[in-house]
Amino acid sequence: MTQKALFDDMIPAQDAAQPAPGRVCTVLVPYPVDKAYSYAVPDDLGHDLAAGTYVCVPLGKREVLGVVWDEHAAAPPRGKLKNMIARYDVPPMPDSHRAFIDWVAHYNMAPKGFVLKMALGAAGALEPPKPVTAYKLSSVSLQALGADEQAREKFLRQFSPQRRRIFALLQDGIPRRAAEIADQCACSPAVVKGLLEKNLLETEHLFSAAPCRNPDLARGGVRLSEDQQMAADHLCEKIADGGFYAALIDGVTGAGKTEIYFEAVAAALKSGKQALILLPEIALSNAFLDRFRRRFGCAPALWHSALSAGQRKAAWRGVATGETKVVVGARSALFLPYHDLGLIVIDEEHDPAYKQEDGVIYHARDMAVVRAHKGGIPVVMVSATPSLETMANVWDGRYEGLHLPDRHGGATLPDIHLIDMKNDKPERGFFIAPSLMRKIEENIAAGGQSLLFLNRRGYAPLTLCRTCGHRLSCPRCTAWLVEHRKTGRLHCHHCGYNLPVPKNCAECGDTDSLTACGPGVERVYEEITQHFPDARTVVLASDTAEDHEKLRAILEGIRDHDYDIIIGTQIIAKGHHFPKLTLVGVIDADLGLQGGDLRAAERTYQLLHQVAGRAGREDLQGHAYLQTYFPQNKVMQALAAHGRDAFLEVESDEREQAGMPPFTRLAGIIVSGKDEQMVMDVARDLGKTAPRGEGLDTLGPAEAPFYRLRGHYRRRLLVRADKKINLQKAVSDWLARNKIPSSIRVYVDIDPQSFF
Ligand code: ADP
Ligand code: ZN
Repeated sequence: MTQKALFDDMIPAQDAAQPAPGRVCTVLVPYPVDKAYSYAVPDDLGHDLAAGTYVCVPLGKREVLGVVWDEHAAAPPRGKLKNMIARYDVPPMPDSHRAFIDWVAHYNMAPKGFVLKMALGAAGALEPPKPVTAYKLSSVSLQALGADEQAREKFLRQFSPQRRRIFALLQDGIPRRAAEIADQCACSPAVVKGLLEKNLLETEHLFSAAPCRNPDLARGGVRLSEDQQMAADHLCEKIADGGFYAALIDGVTGAGKTEIYFEAVAAALKSGKQALILLPEIALSNAFLDRFRRRFGCAPALWHSALSAGQRKAAWRGVATGETKVVVGARSALFLPYHDLGLIVIDEEHDPAYKQEDGVIYHARDMAVVRAHKGGIPVVMVSATPSLETMANVWDGRYEGLHLPDRHGGATLPDIHLIDMKNDKPERGFFIAPSLMRKIEENIAAGGQSLLFLNRRGYAPLTLCRTCGHRLSCPRCTAWLVEHRKTGRLHCHHCGYNLPVPKNCAECGDTDSLTACGPGVERVYEEITQHFPDARTVVLASDTAEDHEKLRAILEGIRDHDYDIIIGTQIIAKGHHFPKLTLVGVIDADLGLQGGDLRAAERTYQLLHQVAGRAGREDLQGHAYLQTYFPQNKVMQALAAHGRDAFLEVESDEREQAGMPPFTRLAGIIVSGKDEQMVMDVARDLGKTAPRGEGLDTLGPAEAPFYRLRGHYRRRLLVRADKKINLQKAVSDWLARNKIPSSIRVYVDIDPQSFF
């Protein structure tokens, strides 16, 4: 359905049967509309209907969920209003969150209702939950535990340590589900049920299944080093002071940054508030959750794309009622309607995954800072390789920089070596330099683990015909088809198009003339297993570990040293801690430098630093080898010299001279449609009237780098503005001046991160 048609359908009919009573509210609904509609409040919905209340309203022929946006709206001059239908028994969405939604919509030029939709991300969460069975101490055990010291000891001595942990946990009087008790006491739910049968526990119906209701704050974390303690104390003070505050914890991988922000989370919880930890989805690993559990005695509430409907519902409700204390989630977790949020942590703040590229296009890191500002709470960004944007804010004093210089416990950073592929060539059809092969061999002999990194799934990124030179590309996208040998198919990684590897060239008809060019992880695997047939080798990419369980098993295997050689894409680069990993080889360090991306150098530095940082995390010295054709490139030089700050300064100077972010602001405009000529015409007309003038210019239109994507032709324009200029206004005035045909879509991407 197009946006226009949907919009028409949503304008409430003005001829409802009931006469309109006195009070009128506006209600925002989770559809692509930009304004809240007026509704009459019937008497039975109560006089205390506050802004932020979740309500059910009629919309066209449907009944939909919405949120009261303005509690005292003026009745429109004519026509009768429809009545609201019902209200939900959930605390209203806080003012700060509604202000945030308004701001996000305005800043990213997205319809308000579309942003609201992200906050209501769990269908059915507003219906009252079904009761669940919870367990608490029975009068028998309460009496025994309340007796004098000696009797109490005697009572407890009859039980196993597991059972004693259960008594200790439940002494606070809070009833818990069997699964929660099992989780916190490291036993099986059967143990809980066993105590029930002996009348030592009793059950109660609980109307909340909210996760992470009772994190254990008394438990305490590891003993912090002096540097860690100073940073943690400082953050805790800021949390106690209240108000907006932004900090960057900046320290190498393994410096102990996570331990510091856990203290900040504990401080926010102690003051009775909720905390949100944002992670790039890929880093939401079990290892992280285990650490959280060790610190807080329970699992956090999770929020990411793979949750079941039930988990989603429970987490949403817990967040909205305030029962859920800590959420750990991917970028969309930022939009949940927290009852009383007290702290936001953005781990790996530089990660490109924080940018949402479809639906509402937004940058979760930047929006998180705004959310903290609206809520008057602290926000803590965390990274070993901060983005230039964030560093610029630290340099300007807008964010406080908390620096951790060393790895925890004296572990050293890996040595980074550059392998010049022009001199140290593998044989034709192979991709690992002889010198790197030798290092891997030595490392296996010494009992170490090696990781080979290549950010490319499949077997080969390009298949071409040796006879006529024809390259197999996607019929719908500007992209080559990637061979996956495991499945025997060619895949488009952009639209999912795929076909079996053909026998004949479609162009010249020659047989068996198609040949694979370049490596993907599957091909590196082939090379390694040929060379080291006895080594235990595993490939890890998003398509080799389809589900969380399989991924978890492989990661555990790596941690337990079940493998000598790991070959992986970026799925392996983030957030993992492998104690025996001492060698990292990057197959193609130049990969990210290709293409005209503004942040290509910065991104490559961040990714390779992070990958190299997998090596040598405990008492073992790590080595990283980067295979490159450009050893003199500034990125390679900075990596080898551990010269991050110097690199960022040079990057910053170059951006300033080029008039690029963070010194100016950009808006990407993509014109897209199925009719190539029409896309050209619309883009050209837009180009003619584009914003230009003092401190404002527009580049393009030009073909977008992905000129065809999923069958759509795409042209792009780039508006660049000085920081003092209202970029959104310039863009919206401009677009409003142009009539866009309904078969053409125009997407606006404020602060674009990728230039596809
Ligand atoms: P970062 O987040 O900076 O990469 P982590 O917080 O993950 O670093 O710490 C790296 C490793 O060192 C982890 O295994 C962590 O448990 C351990 N560690 C960090 N600080 C301490 C500490 N004070 N005492 C004991 N272990 C610590
Ligand atoms: Zn495609």
